[in-house]
Formats: sequence, C-alpha cells, structure tokens
Amino acid sequence: MFDNLTDKFERAFKVLKGQGQITEINVAETLKEVRRALLDADVNFKTAKDFTVRVKDKAMGENVLTAISPSQLMIKICHEELVELMGGNESEIQIQGTPGVILMSGLQGSGKTTFSGKLANYLQTKKNKKPLLVACDVYRPAAIDQLHVLGEQLGIEVYSNKEEKDPVKIATDAVIYARSKGFNVVIVDTAGRLAVDEAMMDEIARVKKAINPTETLFVVDSMTGQDAVNTAKAFNDRINFDGVVLTKLDGDTRGGAALSIKSIVDKPIKFVGTGEKMDALDVFYPKRMADRILGMGDVVSLVERAQEQFNEEEARKLQKRIQKDQFDFNDFLGQIQQIKKMGNVKDLMGMIPGMGKAVKDVDIQDDAFKHIEAIIFSMTPKERANPSLMNGTRKTRIANGSGTNIQEVNKLLKQFEDTKKMMKMMSNPKNMMGMMKQMK
Ligand code: GDP
Repeated sequence: MFDNLTDKFERAFKVLKGQGQITEINVAETLKEVRRALLDADVNFKTAKDFTVRVKDKAMGENVLTAISPSQLMIKICHEELVELMGGNESEIQIQGTPGVILMSGLQGSGKTTFSGKLANYLQTKKNKKPLLVACDVYRPAAIDQLHVLGEQLGIEVYSNKEEKDPVKIATDAVIYARSKGFNVVIVDTAGRLAVDEAMMDEIARVKKAINPTETLFVVDSMTGQDAVNTAKAFNDRINFDGVVLTKLDGDTRGGAALSIKSIVDKPIKFVGTGEKMDALDVFYPKRMADRILGMGDVVSLVERAQEQFNEEEARKLQKRIQKDQFDFNDFLGQIQQIKKMGNVKDLMGMIPGMGKAVKDVDIQDDAFKHIEAIIFSMTPKERANPSLMNGTRKTRIANGSGTNIQEVNKLLKQFEDTKKMMKMMSNPKNMMGMMKQMK
C-alpha cells in the first residue's frame, strides 16, 4: 500500500541528513521533493501545494525551540500534517435510530455491493447489531442476486422486490419492514452508473429524501486517483453525503484519493476496503495511515488483528500441551491457520515498522504456507500426532504425496522442532526470566 509514496518521502527527508539546522534553503529543497512525491501519488495539485506551505511555516517556526535533528523535525511535522490532511481523528459511523438507516452511493463497480455486505457483517459481528440489507438496483437484476449471495454467505437477511421498479418505494418499504421485524440497522445498496449522470443523482437524492438516512456513505475505488476525488465532489455537491468509503486499497493504489478527498469535499473517510473477502474491511484511522505512509508501520492494527484471532481457551489448552511435551503437527497446523486468518502475509509484514520496505519487492504469496500445509496433510494421523515416528521411508512417502521433496520435508521437520523448543521455553516463566536477563 502506497509503497512509492513511502519511498519518495524517505528520499525527501534524506536531503536533511547531516544538516545541522533547518534553513530556508534546505527546507525548500526537501519540500520540493515532498510536493513531487504527493503529485506522483496523484494528490490534487492545490492540496499538495497547501500541504507544503503548511509544513514550511511550521518548520521555520519550530526550529528554534527544538533539540531534534532537522530530518526528525521534518518527519514529525509531515506526520502531523498527513494526519490532518486525512481528517485528524477517526470518524465513527452513525447507526443510532430505530432502525438506523445507512444509504450507499457511488459509481457502478466502485464496490458498493461488496461494501454493503462487509458493513452488515461488521455491524453484526463487532457491534452486536441486527442489520437488514436492501437491494435497490432496479436496473441490474444481477446486482440484486449478488447481494442475496452475500447475505446468504453472511447469514444476513436481504430485502428485495424484483417486481417493483421504483427504488424510492423499495427503500421506504424496506425501512417499514425492518422496523416491524426488529432489525436495528438498514443498509440500502443503490444503483450506480459507469459515470456521473443526472438520472442517477436524481434517483439517489429522491431515495435519500424519502428514507432520511442516519448516514449516507459515498463508496469510491481508490485505484481511480484524481477521478475518485472529482466523482466525490460531484456526489457531495448533489447529495451532501456524510462519509467516504475507499475501496481496493489492497491493490496498487498510489494514495492520491486517500490524501485528497478530505480537503476537497471536507467529509471524513470512514472505512477502507482491503480485499474482496467479507472481512476485508478496516475502520479508517488517519494516524495509522500516516504511520504507514512514512514507513513507521502500523503496529496497532497488527496487534488488533492478532487479538481478534486470539482464543483464550484454545491458547490455554495449547500451553498445557506444550508443557507436557505433546505439541504435535496438528497444533503446528492450527498455529499456521491462525496466522493465515489474520490476513495477507505481505500486508501483515507491512505493518511492522521498517518491514514494509524490506518486503516490498519480495514475492510473498498469500499462499506462503501452501507447501507446509501440503506436507502436513500428506502425513498419516499417527504421524501428525507422533512426530517421533518420522523416518526415511515415511519422509519419502510424504514428499511424494505432497508434491515436494525430501529437502523441504526435512526443512519443515526442523522448523517444527525449533518452534516446539521455542514454545516450550517461552511457556515456562523461569525460562522467560532467564532469556530476558540474557538480552540485557
Ligand atoms: P458495485 O457495482 O459498486 O456494487 O461494485 P461491486 O461491489 O460489485 O464491486 C466491483 C468489484 O470490485 C467486484 O469484483 C468486487 O469483488 C471488487 N471489490 C470491491 N471491494 C474491493 C476491495 O476492497 N478490494 C478488492 N481487491 N476488490 C474489491
């Protein structure tokens, strides 16, 4: 995510390396690079210019007061300004009301339907809500079916009416239905067009007026850069939405939309989509995004993802097995599957400070664990539960069965033994103390 931008910011700060103090000249030189970085990321011209002016004013003003180096000072100021540029604090979605009504808007293909499903899933699993999804695209029956498929997958009811051709009527009926059936959030997915047009704007404005949503969200594909910003402006001028959802941030997006939208429409980004799966949704935190852009990683998000997967009961059972020396290949497989649930491996590594850059060009596949899993799946249940059974004949059979080779099987056996040793050591508090002492 935004790798190029991160590189270019880093290059800009290098201008100040070894400089004793901030001067008009070195600030101007650094900011020339910063501005170029922003423009290359497809940030709106005026936004980029205003950004550098603000950074310059702050840098020149703060210089006398600070003891930190010029490059550190510049990083600090750019970080503060990036956070501001993306909206300052995070902005929560408004779901109060009986029911709370959320209206989606955006162009066709922006990811509205996918996001509607993700949001319903998020509200149901994380906010304890009972959401109803509503299909209001009266032009594309396939869009209605798509929402039904998502609803079924998530176990969330979808309201639709293929006979009715008036989206206003469908939306108002759906709200009445939701109220009578005890749904406390209604998510209305609307029709989009391939480009901004009057009929679409008129339709969404009428739906909005009729159902008076607690929250109108504008969904936009972050890969479209400056176009995303222009579309946002057109929608906002017409329907005055409350917040933005940036989708496809997992792709090769340069960052322009994330950085420009707030300053152009003055509406916060509330969520980002980071994949096609239903759990690939993140609340948007400007500070964490600024951390990532400046190559500082995003440890907070990493820890949160780990916590989501953490199951105390399972962890306790595992600890007992480790202490009793019973850790086997089934446990090893379980651990791998837990890591996989946390998300794309490269994405995860990008959240570790300093790692984003290191793994940028490394080809880490989403299926990085495929070989390991294939090898374990090729073991018999006895072998999995009894790693000490492993011998030459068994290894050859497993290598053949998993489509790998003896070297890979041996490598995995070694990894398994190392993991086992490490886990055993960590599970004993006395050893932990010893290890800590050694580290000092
Ligand atoms: P709609 O026409 O606005 O309802 O758009 P859809 O929800 O049908 O999405 C269009 C395409 O974008 C689909 O293929 C989705 O799977 C894909 N998509 C949506 N959100 C994301 C995302 O965050 N990341 C990626 N990689 N793909 C997405």
